[in-house]
Amino acid sequence: MTVANLLEFDRDALALFCEQLGEKRFRATQLFRWIHQKGASDFGKMSDLAKSLRDKLAGRATIASMPMLSEQASTDGTIKWLFDAGAGNAIETVFIPEDDRGTLCISSQAGCAVGCRFCSTGHQGFSRNLTTGEIIGQLWFAEHHLRKRLNLPEGQRVITNVVMMGMGEPLQNYSALLPALRMMLDDHGYGLSRRRVTVSTSGVVPMIERLRDDCPVALAVSLHAPNDALRDDLVPLNRKYPLHELLAACRGYLAKAPRDFITFEYCMLDGVNDTDAQARELLALVNDKHAGISCKFNLIPFNPFPESGLTRSPNERVTAFARVLQEGGLIATVRKTRGDDIDAACGQLAGEVQDRTNAKVRMTRAPVKVHRSGSDVAVAIAAGRAEDRQETNA
Ligand code: SF4
Repeated sequence: MTVANLLEFDRDALALFCEQLGEKRFRATQLFRWIHQKGASDFGKMSDLAKSLRDKLAGRATIASMPMLSEQASTDGTIKWLFDAGAGNAIETVFIPEDDRGTLCISSQAGCAVGCRFCSTGHQGFSRNLTTGEIIGQLWFAEHHLRKRLNLPEGQRVITNVVMMGMGEPLQNYSALLPALRMMLDDHGYGLSRRRVTVSTSGVVPMIERLRDDCPVALAVSLHAPNDALRDDLVPLNRKYPLHELLAACRGYLAKAPRDFITFEYCMLDGVNDTDAQARELLALVNDKHAGISCKFNLIPFNPFPESGLTRSPNERVTAFARVLQEGGLIATVRKTRGDDIDAACGQLAGEVQDRTNAKVRMTRAPVKVHRSGSDVAVAIAAGRAEDRQETNA
């Protein structure tokens, strides 16, 4: 007999499961509350369920997140967990406490097939998609583990915000992501508002459109470049969905989005995408009267790792870049780095991935060469482009 992990089921799927056990559908709501609101994993303790149902569940179901392999706590309160995703894969989840919120950064895949040049996960390649239960299990584990540790009274939440910004491209694992998002929003589950759940994408255009129609939460887009030539190199998915298509999808998303702007993430790379001229190019891109978009910029100091061949922009360059955007009428903030001492910052999530995509070889390139034509607007990374166009345009 197959034993079902109930973390895999949103409330509709749980109702179906209850029906299959010969129970009324409404039992699913009780069960769902026990699992997600109270963090229960022992059916024997679910006191308002009939004993007969508890006995049935004990034989046919379980409630378990991925096994936790390690926990690291930063001096600034950030916590990073490594979870065993099986077959030699490990994924990471990060909790970032702030005065007015607790944010959980969740992974959606073991590795990532997009292969962004500045991203440690991208350099490791891709192994597999996480299941719905493995995605929501990160929130289930973190919320209830922290509640116990902090000895909070029942009902008091630790995690107020979720960002799908961990390992993986969430929109390339859409069928598992969607039920997990619904469980985050469900009032019988975590009851998070749409504004407090953010999906971050490198620009999977058709799935941005699907997400808008199925479950419009806050959207962040990894932009990282003001033109296609540079973005082709930094975010290879751009070769399939270039900037004009991406911006059109973002404009379409705003029609149903819980916020009236899109957040653009922009990783600041020394000498690659951080000049004043490139900031002005960005302004022109997003302020275009036909193709422009309501947006905010989040400038991210790069966390260098040796294989990338890239370095972090100096602080004064980041400030100057932000100023150009701000003087052009945009909101541009610089992300505070958190958890530096435990490598928990953006782009550093390493985990361990049994790569099926040969990424390490594919992404080993000659050092970055920056070409400037006339002014410092045109920037290209020379090495490896032709081969990559064939391999990554999947
Ligand atoms: S930045 Fe995101 S989409 Fe790009 S390689 Fe890293 S995890 Fe994948």
